[in-house]
Amino acid sequence: MTKHSGGHKHKKQFGQNFLNNGRIIDQIVASIQPKTNNHMVEIGPGEAALTEPLLDVVKRLDIIEIDNDLIAPLKIRFASKAAFNLHHTDALTFDYASLLEFEPDQPLRVVGNLPYNISSPLLFHLLEYSSQIQDMHFMLQKEVVDRLTAQPGSRAFGRLSVMIQYACQAEYLFTVGPENFTPPPKVDSAIVRLVPFQQKPFIAADEAIFADLVKQSFAQKRKTLRNNLKGWLDAEQIENCGVNPGARAETIPVEKFVELANLYQQIKLQSQAD
Ligand code: SAM
Repeated sequence: MTKHSGGHKHKKQFGQNFLNNGRIIDQIVASIQPKTNNHMVEIGPGEAALTEPLLDVVKRLDIIEIDNDLIAPLKIRFASKAAFNLHHTDALTFDYASLLEFEPDQPLRVVGNLPYNISSPLLFHLLEYSSQIQDMHFMLQKEVVDRLTAQPGSRAFGRLSVMIQYACQAEYLFTVGPENFTPPPKVDSAIVRLVPFQQKPFIAADEAIFADLVKQSFAQKRKTLRNNLKGWLDAEQIENCGVNPGARAETIPVEKFVELANLYQQIKLQSQAD
């Protein structure tokens, strides 16, 4: 634990690297573009670096914080703010749809300087609510933002890229250096904007099968698709989707994964019917 000038002991297990640069905070808020009628959700407020400027604008801000030591200071500080709603809980298991009770037709805008150690499971959890989310702005480890926004053929393109880009438009906004946090993390960070598609450009008939096939395709990064998909699809079936079976998964665009998953599902259904 590192002691902060404000008195809070930073907890490594909660990924506590607090923003300390007002200019960066302004830049993040400017990217989010909060509006008065927004229903926002902030994951991990910490000592409220982003919370405060957001609360000045939006009509409702639900805040999710796990660290017991941060709860009372946040409650005291924002007691007079009508928009402020604090949830002392784990963002990984939180039911985001429950927040829609406030205003059912208003999609959520989710933001946060996320704890890096849980970023992938948290993104996968949030994807389950993508139809109820207008957009998401997150600070993450730069390497993760590179993966989220990678194009097929690049080294960063992997399972996370495919799963996120299936559901969202992903945009790399800007890089933030370690010196802008207390304590400084060991790596660069970056801001990403994720906008869930209202209508997905390519639709997997069974999203669980799609997720499994994508996972399997990247099971061994150096192997070809034909090898990774052994027992799922043979070379001819892969070719029938317009995909080279000798290619590696990192070169295959999202829509081709959808085609492969849909073909696998059809074959499975057919074999069950026979
Ligand atoms: N927003 C603050 C800032 O930018 O200075 C703090 C960001 S810090 C990187 C991550 C925050 O997420 C911490 O406040 C931490 O306690 C909180 N946190 C960590 N794991 C969490 C979880 N599973 N659910 C909710 N909050 C969590």
